Amino acid sequence: MIYLDNSATTRIDDAVFDAMVPWLRDGYGNASSPYGPGRAARVAIEDARTELASYLNAHPAELIFTSGGTEANNTALKSMVHWGGVRTIVTSPTEHHAILHPCEVLAASGTAVSFLDVDERGVVQTDGLATFDARDTLVTIMHANNETGVLQPVEAVRGSMPEAFIHTDAVQSFGKVAVDVQALGVDLVSISAHKIHGPKGIGALFIRKGIDFQAHQQGGAQERNRRAGTEPTALIVGFQVAARLAITAMDERYRRMRRHTSMLRDILTRELPSLRVNTPVDGSLPNILNVSFMDADRLDGEAILQLLDLRGVCVSNGSACVSGSQQPSHVLAAMGLPDAEAKAAIRFSVGKDTTDDDIFSAAAITVDLIRNLRV
Ligand code: PLP
Repeated sequence: MIYLDNSATTRIDDAVFDAMVPWLRDGYGNASSPYGPGRAARVAIEDARTELASYLNAHPAELIFTSGGTEANNTALKSMVHWGGVRTIVTSPTEHHAILHPCEVLAASGTAVSFLDVDERGVVQTDGLATFDARDTLVTIMHANNETGVLQPVEAVRGSMPEAFIHTDAVQSFGKVAVDVQALGVDLVSISAHKIHGPKGIGALFIRKGIDFQAHQQGGAQERNRRAGTEPTALIVGFQVAARLAITAMDERYRRMRRHTSMLRDILTRELPSLRVNTPVDGSLPNILNVSFMDADRLDGEAILQLLDLRGVCVSNGSACVSGSQQPSHVLAAMGLPDAEAKAAIRFSVGKDTTDDDIFSAAAITVDLIRNLRV
C-alpha cells in the first residue's frame, strides 16, 4: 500500500503510542479527583498543556483541550456568537466544513455571515476587510487549506482589522509550519493531533487571555469552566508527544515532504499535458499536491480514486458524495474550476515516512491510469 493521504489522517507514531499506554492502563485516575492517581493525571495534563502552548507561543492558561479540530472550530464560533457578543462572521468559501457548516447553522439563527473572495490560487482577498472591523465581528480564515495546502494571509487580516476577533483553523498547518499566535495576531486557533501522527479524538483551542469566553457545552468545571467533560489523559499525552516530535523535526520533515511533492509535481506535469496543479509552488504547505485535469469531461473523475485504490494507492479528492452522486470540491469550485474538473481532482498528501519509491510508484500508476481513462 502507498499511503498518500496524510492530510486526512496519519499513522500514530510508535513513540506516541508508547507514551499513551500507561495512561490507558494504569494511569486511569480522573484528573479532577483529589487523591494520588487523580493528581498524577492532572500533572500529566498540565505538563502537556504547558508544552503544547509553548509551541504556539501562548500561555498554558490560554489552551483548552477539545475532541479535535471540529469541536475546536464549533466551539470558537458558537461560543463567540452565543456568549461573546459576536453578530457578524466573516469567512471564506474555501474553509473546511467544520467552519462552513456551523456558519450555516449560525446564519439560520440570525448571525450575519459574509464571505471573502479567493483568487485563482485559492488565496483569500483581504481588501475591503477594514469595513467589517468592529468588536462584534469574528473573522475566521484557515491558516492552510486542507485540499490544496495554500497558506492564507492571516497576518494581513489582523493588519486590516485591529478591533475584530480573529480565529484561524490551523489543523493542517500545526506541526508543519510555524503557528505563532503572537506573530499571526489571532485570538482563537484550532489544532488537532491526528494530522501529526498523534491519536484521533484530541485537539485544542487557543483562546487569547482577556476574551470573555464561555463554555460551548455545559457540565463539569473542567478546563477552567471552558470545556466540560473528563479530560482524556492518554490522548492529551499522545498529542503532547506527537507535537514535540513534529516541532523538533519540523525543518527536516519540511524539506523531505517538499522534495516529495516537488518530485510528484515534476513527473505528473511532464507526463500528463492536461494536468492543472492547484497547489501554488510558493505559499503552500510542503506536504500537499492537488491536481486536476483540464480535459476532465473526457475522464470518469469518480473512478479515479477507486482505480487508484485498486492499485494500492490511497489518496483523496475534495468532492463529497451527496445522495449517491459526486459533488464538485467546494474549494476548487471557489477557485473557478469548472464542475467536471472540480469533481475529478486528486489530493496527494505525503508524510514524514513517505519514501522516494512511494512517489515514483504512485506517479507511474497515476499516469498509467489517467492515460487509460481518457476516452
Ligand atoms: N479543519 C481542517 C482544515 C481539517 O483538515 C480537519 C480535518 O480534516 C478539521 C478541521 C477537523 O479536524 P478533526 O478531524 O480533528 O475534527
